[in-house]
Amino acid sequence: MDNEKLAKLLFPDINKTPDDYEKIYPPRNLPEGAKVTRLGPSPTGFMHLGNLYGAFVDERLAHQSGGVFYLRIEDTDDKRFVEGAVDVIIDSLDFFGIEFDEGAGRDGDTGEYGPYTQSERKDVYQCMAKYLVENGMAYPCFLTEEEIGAIREKQEAEKKTPGIYGKYASCRDLSIEEVTANIDAGKPYVLRLKSDGDMDDPKEIHVKDGIRGTLTMPENCQDVVILKTTGIPTYHFAHVVDDHFMRTTHVVRGEEWLSSLPIHVELFQKFGWRWPVFCHTAQLMKLDENGNKRKLSKRKDPELRLGYYKEMGYHPAAVREYLLTILNSNYEEWRMAHPDAPVDDFAFTTKKMSNSGALFDLNKLNDVSKDVLVKINAEDLFKFMLGWAKEYKEEIVPELEGHEDYLLPILDLGRGGKKPRKDFVNAPQMFEFISYFFDDYFKIEDSLPEEVSPDDAKKILEAYLASYDQSDDQGAWFDKIREIAEQLGYAPRPKDFKKEPDKFKGHVGHVSEVIRLAVVGRGQSPDIWEIQQILGEARVRTRVKNYAASF
Ligand code: GLU
Repeated sequence: MDNEKLAKLLFPDINKTPDDYEKIYPPRNLPEGAKVTRLGPSPTGFMHLGNLYGAFVDERLAHQSGGVFYLRIEDTDDKRFVEGAVDVIIDSLDFFGIEFDEGAGRDGDTGEYGPYTQSERKDVYQCMAKYLVENGMAYPCFLTEEEIGAIREKQEAEKKTPGIYGKYASCRDLSIEEVTANIDAGKPYVLRLKSDGDMDDPKEIHVKDGIRGTLTMPENCQDVVILKTTGIPTYHFAHVVDDHFMRTTHVVRGEEWLSSLPIHVELFQKFGWRWPVFCHTAQLMKLDENGNKRKLSKRKDPELRLGYYKEMGYHPAAVREYLLTILNSNYEEWRMAHPDAPVDDFAFTTKKMSNSGALFDLNKLNDVSKDVLVKINAEDLFKFMLGWAKEYKEEIVPELEGHEDYLLPILDLGRGGKKPRKDFVNAPQMFEFISYFFDDYFKIEDSLPEEVSPDDAKKILEAYLASYDQSDDQGAWFDKIREIAEQLGYAPRPKDFKKEPDKFKGHVGHVSEVIRLAVVGRGQSPDIWEIQQILGEARVRTRVKNYAASF
């Protein structure tokens, strides 16, 4: 077979050579050790947690090393292109503070290694496919689906590995005349890699993985499709060509690609290129109701969708912090040693990543979120909550907007000192938590403590009202409550009650709980005296009066 002739026949319009592309896309001029990473999502309009997980690794590797992180749109599966999908990708990552240096963008590409959308790179793929044909490493295959089905049946009967390879790859040996005749007859064809692998005795290959160490696997033996009948490349081919010419140093991708790694290795070898460091990330898992680990599912788990976190009012810094705890096993230890350091100070490494399922747990996210939000100042929390409300809960906007002076001390309640309160989890819960500060939302939610009868409650509240002075300091205020307690037969100190429980109806804590219920509507809250200072005398008096009148 005259390979040159075949290549010209198949790719009559391709005039560039691989060397031309080497010059168009020269090695990047970056400092030693700088990493080049990319995110290659399909433009389906659906971004999931796995995308963020991978993007996070990419972003850290690139930016920690002074390298480049770029966005490449992988749309070779044209059925899946959704209008506006690029914006969805960029926006949803932007929310978590992940920004690209280069690549596809809202208003087109930036960077010297484009185009960054695979459907616009047909010439590059064709040139490289032509090169393989010229060198006898790829060939057109005219097998129909029925023929492939028949081959498979035969292989099953013979207990052979299914696929197109070796003696089953009947188009490997077509003459140029046969190929020409087929093309003239309008027969569709794909381009297949002519694999050097020996299915009966596959060699072992060794590939270093940034997360998993050295992988040992059998070489590829299949004549995989590299260009589809439409001339569009498969993932395998596009990945190899693009990551070479875009000068990617680290390919971070899901472990579902591990099984096709030998194909990629063979392609890199055929081109005589070095392959990048592969980092195959673990599947994201969750514990189901029965405590079993299972993959997160698009259908069953709303938390898989990236938009979920924004809608649910999670602060991006909290999600980021949480992801780090599942990304690097030494992160939590580092955080304990550096409680106030910016998260980007952490030396992220793929070596500390899990290679079995990474467990995602919303409860843990909530805990981490509390730790993160306690460090965000009230002004930023206010802005965050307002921003969320404007998008997702408009009816509360009037309570927030323009009321910064009232709200900032509320958001800061109990957050000072050595043991700050960690009350806040996410925006809707924050509003819920402080909702008693808004008259329209205030209601009595809890009931009286057992130790206090409704009759006594009324008496407590009336005495409280009579003695109430907004200008009392905390000490004077509490002394008055103690007095009320004593007068009504409650121990002035909890320990007195403990010592002689028969002597008292309850203790001062129960009495102040009644006051808390009147003012806050709940049995638990931050410091009542401070709350009253913010609420103002008129509101306090009204609430105490109303609650007293309910008995
Ligand atoms: N387009 C591929 C995907 O969405 C990207 C895999 C890769 O990063 O190489 O799974």
